[in-house]
Amino acid sequence: MKNIFISFLLIFMTVLIFNNKAEANNMKGNFNFNTKTVKLNNGYEIPLNGIGTYSLLNDVCYNSILYALQNGVRLIDTAYIYNNEEEVGKAVRDSKIDRKDIFIITKLYPNQYNNAEKAINDALKKLNVEYIDMMLLHHPGNNDVEAYKAIEKAIKEGKIRSVGLSNWYIKELKDFIPKINIIPALVQNEIHPYYQDTEVIEYIQSLGIAVQGWYPLGGRGHQKELLNDKVLKDIAAKYNKSVAQIILRWNLQRGVIVIPGSSNRQHIIENTEIYDFELSDDDMKRISELNRDEKHDWY
Ligand code: NAD
Repeated sequence: MKNIFISFLLIFMTVLIFNNKAEANNMKGNFNFNTKTVKLNNGYEIPLNGIGTYSLLNDVCYNSILYALQNGVRLIDTAYIYNNEEEVGKAVRDSKIDRKDIFIITKLYPNQYNNAEKAINDALKKLNVEYIDMMLLHHPGNNDVEAYKAIEKAIKEGKIRSVGLSNWYIKELKDFIPKINIIPALVQNEIHPYYQDTEVIEYIQSLGIAVQGWYPLGGRGHQKELLNDKVLKDIAAKYNKSVAQIILRWNLQRGVIVIPGSSNRQHIIENTEIYDFELSDDDMKRISELNRDEKHDWY
């Protein structure tokens, strides 16, 4: 009887381990193009496309976010350092959209890491929302482990739902993960056709962690060259889409969530219209060949 029980337990554990591994390796395949969301490793769903708010200030920020929400965008990326959490929160409340249908990401900056508990409460106060969907650490810095643990505590208290990292690469992740308790749900890094970072993306996805790309269009000051790239323009003409839409779609097909920034109403809408076409394997390959390992910024 005891032997039967042990055999059963072993089979059960093998199935469990195998399933977890398959799930972890399948982050890219988990993108649901019908719901336009992906399930994170903690069970929460995050939209596949959103709006970034870096350099959007005051009324420009408020109006852009409200307009984006009114036109189907459900994911907003802000940060303490962007100095616009208040405007983001006000737009969320004024949109009258169910809070549970909106996903807000904000970030702690390294100068907040030594007093992260206060920084979390400040972010909640500025956003003036019941909870924050996801808090990221902006980039590695002194006391980042302690700051991360403060976020873990805030998750237990219901102030934050998910935790993630930004500007963490393979070495940084290998050093950091053994020191914390909750595996990050997401890593946000610079990703665009001139800085594809495929090895890092695949490493993060292999851990069951979602990948989100900042500077999807190359970033402010750089997007002109990318949006005028000859190969991308050729592909855009073929699908009757804009170059921006081709880049965003290429990201989604690689399993990368996108948060293009814009205050231009036409662009805000254009950046959501990326679900009614699919890039062929050949065109995905042509874009992959544009990589120059050309980083446009560090943070
Ligand atoms: P981006 O690559 O999204 O490019 C934005 C530029 O492209 C803007 O000038 C915008 O006017 C233009 N643009 C947007 N949509 C367009 C379209 N359809 N056609 C033509 N032009 C278009 O750069 P970004 O906004 O700086 O980055 C995206 C977001 O990533 C930021 O807003 C921010 O939320 C986040 N971010 C995070 C970090 C980090 O360290 N974690 C760093 C930078 C940015």
